[in-house]
Amino acid sequence: MINKSKELFERAQQSIPGGVNSPVRAFKSVGGTPIFIKKAKGAYLYDADGNRYIDYIASWGPMILGHAYEPVVKAIQEYAAYSTSYGAPTELEIEMAELILSMVPNVDMIRMVSSGTEACMSALRLARGYTGKNKVIKFEGHYHGHADSFLVKAGSGLATLNIQTVPGITAGVSVDTLVASYNKLDEVRQLVNENKGEVAAIILEPVAGNMGCILPEAGFLEGIRQLCDEEGIVLIMDEVMTGFRLAPGGAQELLGIRADLVTYGKVIGGGMPVGAFGGKKEIMQHIAPLGNVYQAGTLSGNPIAMIAGYTTLKTLKDNPAIYKELEEKCTYLHKGLDEVLKAWGQPYVINQLGSMISLHFSDHAVTDFTSAASANNARFNKFFHAMLKRGIYLPPSAFEAWFLCNALTYADLDETIKAAKVSLNETGNI
Ligand SMILES: *Cc1c(COP(=O)(O)O)cnc(C)c1O
Repeated sequence: MINKSKELFERAQQSIPGGVNSPVRAFKSVGGTPIFIKKAKGAYLYDADGNRYIDYIASWGPMILGHAYEPVVKAIQEYAAYSTSYGAPTELEIEMAELILSMVPNVDMIRMVSSGTEACMSALRLARGYTGKNKVIKFEGHYHGHADSFLVKAGSGLATLNIQTVPGITAGVSVDTLVASYNKLDEVRQLVNENKGEVAAIILEPVAGNMGCILPEAGFLEGIRQLCDEEGIVLIMDEVMTGFRLAPGGAQELLGIRADLVTYGKVIGGGMPVGAFGGKKEIMQHIAPLGNVYQAGTLSGNPIAMIAGYTTLKTLKDNPAIYKELEEKCTYLHKGLDEVLKAWGQPYVINQLGSMISLHFSDHAVTDFTSAASANNARFNKFFHAMLKRGIYLPPSAFEAWFLCNALTYADLDETIKAAKVSLNETGNI
């Protein structure tokens, strides 16, 4: 029963546009009423009606250790008593920066911000300031937050809501954003050739997670890296999703690809609003007050956000076995889903890397936005609701990756696989 959620959703729509503070939460593509959450612990969400769900969103990634992870809660409580913000530097920010630098490759300096959007927006401005060039190449279906430059074919929430062009973004901004298909190196080469000497940056999700989970094909990222080196283009790897999730050093470490600038969010804040961008000193020193590319934030490096992030990252750094455990759990889920999907008999594709996984009802490989969008997403929506009814909380869109947290037990995974079996039968032939 979700009576209270229904009531809250009605009430929310009176004072909040669409009843939510971020669009995908509204369940618009899957239909129905969004679940209003009261609390969460470990791998479980509890809604306003007291129903329990096994959580495969993990706050869209950050809660990699599980909800209300005790050391994080304790640290927040301790630091909150010292005041929640100063607007002046703290030693904690240095410790956070040093910890990040000790975990991720190719980052000499890092600047903290308050969201992944800010991180990507600032990294692009820096790339433009550093190169003196204006254009940026992004990939269809890749999401880099909601800054103007990136809201062109941006996957995820926009794909879910079928928004093609965004009112409010000027033509002047969108002409500087060039779009290529993910995993199509030739398209990128062509764009660079057509815009010789004008491209400041190429930005990408090294492993795409905003059109479901889509892996880079062999040689693609290497080819992009080489092209950037040849053309003096700044390669920005958006690790907001993959950073500290795929490995302590993120996709850069796991895939062995070097970024010039890298952006973080999600896991980096341990559930608090944190983002960051960093890279080589040669580029980072152009940021104010060292250089004159301006970037600032009243609450940047906020002590409560820093201690939550620091505690999360330190736990991950000190316990690298967590990544192995997460991957084993995700692979177990993958195998279990494979079995019930095969028995069900309709076409499907599961993509997985580490603790990121997604299911497309597709009869062809899902390697870019076009193939993700041509999957049977109506079937996904039905599957989503059938799972939700059985207490399994999947992302409410086929264009989102599922994120596992390490609080998930094998019993939870078994329950999920069992629920999938029943849900598939209920999903039928839509
Ligand atoms: C979530 C996300 C962002 C935006 O981060 P916010 O904190 O929501 O602003 C940027 N890039 C990627 C890859 C993301 O997944």
